[in-house]
Amino acid sequence: MRCPKCGVDMTVADVEGCEVDECPRCGGIWVDVEEEKSALGMKPTVFTVDEIKRLRQIYQPLGQIEAVKYFKCPRCGELMWRKNYMHHSGIIVDKCHRHGTFFDKGELEKAAEFIKKGGVEYEKLRIAEKGVAETQAKLIRELGRVESTMYRLHWMGRLLSSLGF
Ligand SMILES: [Zn+2]
Ligand SMILES: [Zn+2]
Repeated sequence: MRCPKCGVDMTVADVEGCEVDECPRCGGIWVDVEEEKSALGMKPTVFTVDEIKRLRQIYQPLGQIEAVKYFKCPRCGELMWRKNYMHHSGIIVDKCHRHGTFFDKGELEKAAEFIKKGGVEYEKLRIAEKGVAETQAKLIRELGRVESTMYRLHWMGRLLSSLGF
């Protein structure tokens, strides 16, 4: 497999007992989608309220980075998305959703560090909260629709009675 950035053959390396591909030129590391959880040490952890408060202080939204595609996935050849890893880590990676993630030199370690500090838990919390906010917005929209229907029925009633029905 070739490095998506330099095009040279990558060599198999071991990270946390997982097979990854490392580029001898740029030091970038390709992690297959199946290996990502173990290579980055993502373990299911339960966080306390205090820990979540601490995470909030660490992970303020970093803002959207421009979603552009630059490099081809070494597996399928389609252009990969350049993304902020886990939305809040500040680590920019190239990602093919079907096949895996390319980390620049040293970024895999940074990503593992981010996960160890609770970055994944923070992301889960953020998604859960976003879900709640979306449900609330939907409910408000629905209520608005019910109200406007009732308003229309009210006026239709007035109109009908004025016409003598
Ligand atoms: Zn390379
Ligand atoms: Zn791919």
